[in-house]
Amino acid sequence: MKITNVKATTLKGYKDWNFVRIETDEGIMGLGEAHPGEGITDVIVKRLKPLLVGKDPLNVEPLYHHMIGRTIGQSVGGTMLGAIGGVETALWDLAGKVLSVPIYQLLGGKYRDRLRLYADVGRGSGGIDTPQAWAQRAREGVADGYQAIKFDIDHSADELQHDPVNRGLSLAELNKMTTLVAAVREAIGDDIDVCIDCHGLYNVRDVLLLAQRLEPFNLMFLEDPVPPENIDAMGKVTASTSIPICTGEWVHRRDGFRRLIQEQACDMLHVDVSAAGGILEAKKIADLADLYYMPFAAHNIVSPLGMVAAAHVSAAVRNFHSMELPYHADQVSWRWELIQSKETLIQDGQFVVPDGPGLGVELNETIFRAHLKQGYSFFDD
Ligand SMILES: [Mg+2]
Repeated sequence: MKITNVKATTLKGYKDWNFVRIETDEGIMGLGEAHPGEGITDVIVKRLKPLLVGKDPLNVEPLYHHMIGRTIGQSVGGTMLGAIGGVETALWDLAGKVLSVPIYQLLGGKYRDRLRLYADVGRGSGGIDTPQAWAQRAREGVADGYQAIKFDIDHSADELQHDPVNRGLSLAELNKMTTLVAAVREAIGDDIDVCIDCHGLYNVRDVLLLAQRLEPFNLMFLEDPVPPENIDAMGKVTASTSIPICTGEWVHRRDGFRRLIQEQACDMLHVDVSAAGGILEAKKIADLADLYYMPFAAHNIVSPLGMVAAAHVSAAVRNFHSMELPYHADQVSWRWELIQSKETLIQDGQFVVPDGPGLGVELNETIFRAHLKQGYSFFDD
């Protein structure tokens, strides 16, 4: 079997969702989702396709390293690696279809049939950052069946800032942020998990002041308290608070995660499968973390198809903790119609791991065509 074509296109979701289709001389095709954002489809077609046409698609890991090696210097992260991750996912889908097994089987098998989700609600109800709106939004997530809720605390008190760029938190910001989290905990009780994301915005000292104030609320994790680039600073935060520190959505490949894991500079990883290098790379990162008994969570800003790829990894790693559901994307009303699966993918606040060949789901072509980004066409047009 040989690869005959690699195609890519973009849907307009709450981000630009990028899809890859790999075609073969035997008519079997593989589908994947690359990292969101502009420019990725160009990279897939112009840079990666020439590296793949004529090759045996079943050599997934060698093809991954071939793409990395031929784009060296550009594939440590960013657009190139986000494109490679989508192609790698499509290769796994293809391999699973050829061999008639789900991807998790090719990764060694599954530890679980369903995955714990946490609902990333973003801001308070109506996009408002008041204790009442945060409490209301948390109740909405719980009413939908989710047992863990995540809020973005960054920019929730900007009107109280001393300075918008110095990574500091004013006393008034700290006070308001504390009331927001307190209102959530009060609204949903003690047994629902709450996570707080800082998006890497703060300095070590001030985010530790925030952490100290949030410790009584038993958070599931505090995410990206400082920018992720400085592992020593992340490690200092981790060592200085009892709240589990979570990071990883902006970290790439095993090389990027190595020191973070080995120095235990965080308590748990948050890996974006589409950004970090794809399915097998994410599994290897999770396995490296498991050597340190460090939990693995899956970050998602992709469409439901990309979530399915993350679900196969999450099913196949021992140290899986939870998977992100971009609950804030509920404005994209059609997104769950985009793919067709044997079972409803979300049941009782959990993600059901598909067990069909490859990713185990198919695209709904009608919905897909209806939401193409302007200037983009379906794969075969
Ligand atoms: Mg985050």
